[in-house]
Amino acid sequence: MPVLSRVVAYTEEQLVVLQSDDPEEFLRTSELIATFGGRVSQVYGPRVLLAQMPVRQHEAFTQALETSHAAGEEGTANAPFPVSEGEALGIAAWRLRSDPQFAEAKARRPGRDASWGMDPPDEPEEDAEASGEEEFASPAPDLSSFLIGSVAVGLIIVEGPTPDLQFTQAERELVVAEVQDGLGWLAAQEPRAGVTWVFDLQVLRVAVPADTSLPMTYEAREAPWRDPALHQLGHGPGIQGVRDYVSALIGRLGTRWGYAGFFTKYPLKHFAYASKPRVVMHYGNNGWKPEGIAEVFTHETGHIFGCPDEYKESKCSCSSRHGPFNEVNGNCERCATPFTPCLMAANTRALCTYTRAHLGWRDSDGDGTLDLAGE
Ligand SMILES: [Zn+2]
Repeated sequence: MPVLSRVVAYTEEQLVVLQSDDPEEFLRTSELIATFGGRVSQVYGPRVLLAQMPVRQHEAFTQALETSHAAGEEGTANAPFPVSEGEALGIAAWRLRSDPQFAEAKARRPGRDASWGMDPPDEPEEDAEASGEEEFASPAPDLSSFLIGSVAVGLIIVEGPTPDLQFTQAERELVVAEVQDGLGWLAAQEPRAGVTWVFDLQVLRVAVPADTSLPMTYEAREAPWRDPALHQLGHGPGIQGVRDYVSALIGRLGTRWGYAGFFTKYPLKHFAYASKPRVVMHYGNNGWKPEGIAEVFTHETGHIFGCPDEYKESKCSCSSRHGPFNEVNGNCERCATPFTPCLMAANTRALCTYTRAHLGWRDSDGDGTLDLAGE
């Protein structure tokens, strides 16, 4: 009998591959996971999901799953049914993460636990330009107000016509594995938030050559490859096109929130940045390297859900207020006493109380339910 469990420091996961794309089977499996004290944390298509579950339940769950006609991971090797490209990437990413070498590379990643100030992954003082807000007369709807419930993640790898702009299969799988690892960690930090990441994975190739003579602005460096990619996805150009794509994704996947994550090798203004509703990252990931994509992408996801930077080079302030509770940025490195390790301050797998509040994670009356859980 295949044992699907793996145990890492932050969570206990199982990969589940269903035999059909019947929504009833998905629902039945989700309910079965719940009866074993677990929950669905990531979805890669109608047949492929990750569950977070106490490790002591893994064996009993696997047995129950087989009884209920769902196939385990081993079933995919000679699967009589095709999985989609996105589902296949989700499975490949999970297998990559199960390899001890992956965990070792993560543990030895350059700049582990160092302040983001060493090589800032975003330039918050230029947020207005990064968001393209000046183009719009009215404010856009907020597609990521706080991190509770299901989230559509449109993960889009955009390749170009020349080899230097293309990803090998191993690089595509690494991107998905890093995102799966980082977002899985984030969801596990507050089970009561019921966070489920529902992926739409796309690998797109556009015809435009790289042009390093383009003006050094976010939009000038992003539009030439982003807009043809949006066109392939059936949407118009510009930030509005990204908003339309994310809104359509939320509708199609039936999630509460959503955002897009673009990965590319095209030359950018900066190697990583975020403003609602999208994150943009260069595969090389500057000094943090590809084996640090998980931490940078998850930090950027923090921005998508309203978290401010906390490292001192970001010029943060302990009095600025953020998130659904209008909480101060009390762990800003320039003024916090004590200053505590936190993903919004450093390349580290920790969340401070302030960042939790900015994400919307607070239980003020201590009743075990988050204040916003019923919102
Ligand atoms: Zn940041």
